[in-house]
Amino acid sequence: MTEFLASHQHVLWFASNVLRACLLLAVVTVVFAPLEHMFAVRPGRLFERGWSVNLGWYFFNGLFTTLLLTPPALLIAWLIHSTLPGAVTGMAAGLPLWARMVAAMVVGEIGFYWGHRWSHELPLLWRFHAVHHSAEHVNFLVNTRGHPIDLVFTRLCGLTLLYATGLASPVGPNPSLVPMLVLFIGSLWSFFIHANVRWRLGPFEEIIASPAFHHWHHTLEDHKDHNYSSMLPFIDRLFGTFYLPRTWPKDYGTSTPVPETLIGQLLEPLAPAAMGRPTAPVGRSNQA
Ligand SMILES: [Zn+2]
Repeated sequence: MTEFLASHQHVLWFASNVLRACLLLAVVTVVFAPLEHMFAVRPGRLFERGWSVNLGWYFFNGLFTTLLLTPPALLIAWLIHSTLPGAVTGMAAGLPLWARMVAAMVVGEIGFYWGHRWSHELPLLWRFHAVHHSAEHVNFLVNTRGHPIDLVFTRLCGLTLLYATGLASPVGPNPSLVPMLVLFIGSLWSFFIHANVRWRLGPFEEIIASPAFHHWHHTLEDHKDHNYSSMLPFIDRLFGTFYLPRTWPKDYGTSTPVPETLIGQLLEPLAPAAMGRPTAPVGRSNQA
């Protein structure tokens, strides 16, 4: 057995990733399942319609999508580093870690905001992003329901700005520390803003994203095309897409047809036929 594992390091690596994904799932379930039971926006069950697809996407994206993200991220980092002057790409290197983290959260969020907004406005990107919006029950596990191409694209938009502003550098000690920390913190917060929890954050909802802020992003019809930020709502204020009343959306989901199975959701946006299915930019018939 030891010999087999020593000669099959990839098996060990994959098994450790599965174990890590299981542990994270256990933690978020222990945290959010009771909260959703006690403070539900609308009473629901943990195993709502679509829960198995959400769970499938959780493992699929946790195990494979990070691998898909790495090559284009490295390519973009290399391109930026080899074309922009060193004075630009190295300008944040002297900042203390905390200042780089704060700046990286804001700059990365601006990149993410536009990547997300384009995913709603451009039909080519929307057919991948529609998978995330196909959930009719929004809860913490909907966070990881998303097509890999959609997830990679929006994260690359954030990372590109981080590399271009020197807040993350492809060279030097711990080259991926800042982007990894930003992505990690953002991922954890994303479980919270999807949670079926009716907590409101008062005036802080202008500064940090809340479940209400993001649930309005998942609205089926009423005031769709708002709240694209994942953590910092003032970015939406800045670009005119902020919407946060005292009430909650009546319905969630999308009017775009999306297959119900994980395999269907993975393959259908890649098929040429998807080009012909009903899609429309923001302001017309699409859910956003
Ligand atoms: Zn969206």
